[in-house]
Amino acid sequence: MAKTYAIAIVGIGKITEDQHLPCIAKNPRFKLTGLVSQRGVARDGVPTFKTLGELLKSGVAVDAVAVCTPPNARHAIAVEAMDAGKHVLLEKPTTATTLETADLVAHAAKTQRVAYATWHSQHNAAVDEAKRLLAGQRLKRLHVEWKEDVRRWHPGQEWIWAPGGFGVFDPTINALSILTKILPGPLFVTSAELITPSNRETPIAGKVTFRSPAAAANASLTAEVDWRQTGPQSWNIDIETESGTKLELREGGTKLSVDGKQTVAAPMEEYERIYEHFADLLDRGQSDMHYTPLQLVADAFFVGKRVPTDAFHW
Ligand code: NAP
Repeated sequence: MAKTYAIAIVGIGKITEDQHLPCIAKNPRFKLTGLVSQRGVARDGVPTFKTLGELLKSGVAVDAVAVCTPPNARHAIAVEAMDAGKHVLLEKPTTATTLETADLVAHAAKTQRVAYATWHSQHNAAVDEAKRLLAGQRLKRLHVEWKEDVRRWHPGQEWIWAPGGFGVFDPTINALSILTKILPGPLFVTSAELITPSNRETPIAGKVTFRSPAAAANASLTAEVDWRQTGPQSWNIDIETESGTKLELREGGTKLSVDGKQTVAAPMEEYERIYEHFADLLDRGQSDMHYTPLQLVADAFFVGKRVPTDAFHW
């Protein structure tokens, strides 16, 4: 019979409430045995601790820890968990800096623990189908339009505006995680505009241009991202290959049209797939710490030009 893993969650914020708690509850491979919440958020029948250290000392059975804090807290928590013999699942963006994630890769190997850097947008049937269709192709055009309402998805979250909080590149990294999965070759950032409110430290909008060895010399590879979009949200990726095929990924990668005809439309079950994959990784004792999306964001910040814009107030 398949093993059930005891799992604890650190950080009981929006994504934990929206996705991790319900997906763990309906996956028979996991049993929630502990919560770590600085504010003391509780759930019936599950003990809550103020810190991971308190949970680890408590004697509560835990095989794995899902780290759902803001990114700048994750490295220390993941190291503490692995040092205590626990496997770790990391929300995206994995950590606040690339070297911290590289260190977690090494630490997982050293402690022989499973570490999993989740990229929820990768877990869609339309994304898998786009990858299949693009294999061996050369790109002529790529455009990402990732425009959403920060007040809807990150209500009152001040950490996203602080250094290390990523700003609009917090959702943009979802689009980049799709690209790193489906494109037939690597992607490099060539330039970026980081459109930043005068009273904030991280961008509210941005433009990025890329190049790729898998693209024609005159190919246009671009992204336009914005957190000020109210009404319908735009999570779109358009790709045209040199051979003339046009792919349109829509609604965050849940729908795919090929040459104008919809070929895949599936409900969004990204976190269900994340926990299925985590159970599989735990069964096999294998880590999955691909972090190219984080490197692409870091590179956009490296080469990006800061462009000031109006102050942002909630
Ligand atoms: P959030 O609502 O601010 O929740 C994060 C929680 O982490 C806080 O409520 C707090 O919970 C805990 N926390 C905060 N600072 C901490 C620290 N320094 N040390 C330990 N714990 C700390 O944020 P969120 O929207 O859930 O986002 C968390 C992560 O999930 C982000 O990386 C985000 O990119 C990702 N994500 C978010 C969404 C979304 O729709 N919002 C979607 C997909 C992925 P306690 O008070 O309980 O400790």
